[in-house]
Amino acid sequence: MAKVGFIGLGNMGGPMAINLVKAGHQVEVFDLSDSAMASIVEHGAVQAASANAAATGKQFVITMLPAGKHVAGLYLGEQGLLSVVDHNTLMIDSSTIDAATARLVAQDAQDRGIPFIDAPVSGGVGGAVAGTLSFICGGEVDHFDHAKVVLNDMGKNIFHAGGVGAGQVAKICNNMMLSILMAGTSEALQMGIDNGLDPKVLSDIMLKSSGKNWCLELYNPVPGVMDNVPSSNDYQGGFMVDLMLKDLGLASEAAQLSKSSTPLGTLARSLFALHSRSGAGDQDFSSIIKMYQAKD
Ligand code: NAD
Repeated sequence: MAKVGFIGLGNMGGPMAINLVKAGHQVEVFDLSDSAMASIVEHGAVQAASANAAATGKQFVITMLPAGKHVAGLYLGEQGLLSVVDHNTLMIDSSTIDAATARLVAQDAQDRGIPFIDAPVSGGVGGAVAGTLSFICGGEVDHFDHAKVVLNDMGKNIFHAGGVGAGQVAKICNNMMLSILMAGTSEALQMGIDNGLDPKVLSDIMLKSSGKNWCLELYNPVPGVMDNVPSSNDYQGGFMVDLMLKDLGLASEAAQLSKSSTPLGTLARSLFALHSRSGAGDQDFSSIIKMYQAKD
């Protein structure tokens, strides 16, 4: 069993750290929030006095922070995490951040001889609790292979997307496509409803036709068509509009840097931004169908 430092114990990091404790690893944790740390310590983790203390002397350090600025702020600089660890510690950043920051941190780590991979996740809070997350990793193959010692205890599918930053790029490509699929599925279903079709019948027809896709199969946005999906639970739970909007912002930045043309991704970002501004930021992203519905 490994000595692990875990920093960032929010909605995702908290249950991920608990799964490492349950798997028998020695886990030392740190978060800016005392209450976040207390709930993990209850499960058997040790509370560190600082992020640097949590990272010192560990085989693995995992970070799960909100955005690129938090990751750069924590890792870099004279007092940063990279100043207190050495080549015996594999640094794993599982936050969803821009690929440019992931590469900047990786470069500093490489300059110091410290192994680093980016390993953003897919699967949401439910996947974090159940230990069934997908990890989409970027970095050297031997670092990726070594990371599985801990990633396997928090996830089910562990992918190697390429060199450092590739995990972040693969994740935002997927989420950009998902946002487009959800908006398109909503648009088609609402047009059917507006023309007198039953959305369940229309969904069944499209599922056997060329419009079949993941949203229709597993995540129908119309309430009542499927059980156990956010649309049938007043759009609570699931993947929040504001998190999708964050990922679409990262996709837009990546597209800008690579001069990629992403007209549908850009449109989807505007749609989700409008939807968030209407007060739906904390609803599941399938609530985007409301943008297509007539207001009473
Ligand atoms: P969160 O806001 O619930 O948790 C972030 C935690 O990081 C907080 O507890 C905060 O106190 C802590 N933190 C921030 N700066 C810190 C620092 N310098 N030192 C120590 N702790 C610090 O966020 P979350 O929902 O757990 O998401 C984390 C990451 O995972 C984000 O990048 C998010 O985009 C990504 N993600 C989230 C989901 C989801 O469904 N919530 C799904 C996939 C990926």
